[in-house]
Amino acid sequence: MKRTLKYVGFGFAVLLGVSAAVVGLTFSGLQPASDGDELNQIRIVTSGTGSTVGIVPIGEAAVALIDAGSDATGAPILADLEKRGLTAESVKAILFTHGHFDHIAAAGVFPQAQLLALAPEADLIAGLKKPRGPVVRFFPVKPTGLNVTRTLKEGEPLMLGDTTIKVFAVPGHTAGSAAYLINGILFLGDSADATAKGKLQSGHWIFCDDLAENEASLRSLVDKIVAQGEVVQALAFAHSGMLRDGLAPLSAWISDQDD
Ligand SMILES: [Zn+2]
Repeated sequence: MKRTLKYVGFGFAVLLGVSAAVVGLTFSGLQPASDGDELNQIRIVTSGTGSTVGIVPIGEAAVALIDAGSDATGAPILADLEKRGLTAESVKAILFTHGHFDHIAAAGVFPQAQLLALAPEADLIAGLKKPRGPVVRFFPVKPTGLNVTRTLKEGEPLMLGDTTIKVFAVPGHTAGSAAYLINGILFLGDSADATAKGKLQSGHWIFCDDLAENEASLRSLVDKIVAQGEVVQALAFAHSGMLRDGLAPLSAWISDQDD
């Protein structure tokens, strides 16, 4: 019995070590997320290990968050709010790009926040469904107590306070992954990343439900944005720094794929 436990423990340690190595390799070569980056009054803070949160002013003493990071205390978000004379109560909404644990951890810290996501993501956010990605499927799942209070549909007109938000469905990383266009910044969550060379790359397969679907979503996202005549100044990613060259990095990625 003791020996069996020893083997199980050893196996678990190896699995953990391999997972850590895979995750480490995955994030090497990315442009680091720049804590405190700001564009058009939207500020990016890192909250937890490598996860970014967008803080979007939506009116007098009111902000919305894009994702809620991987630090369950929300301390980095609260510290940034405090610098602006705001508190946890100032957060009126959290828009989730998707429901992986490193995007929702601090969502319970903000008592006034309505929780918004595309409908297919609600169960993942609530911790009632397992993620499907090759690595994340092994992470334990338990109820988070987070209930999406408003489910979103692609293209629906969304106003939070005085701020207009364009909602796009980009399924693939997860079934209900969303991109949000706010004040010229396109938040792509984990659907894509910025490399250290300033190029865009697709989301990592080890975390993606379906990489091919994710890549198809990125292509159709560009088509939709161009067709709607929307202006994009910058691309924001959940685990890497902003790219401030409009849609060009996304278009360049598509051209590279087609070569
Ligand atoms: Zn993810």
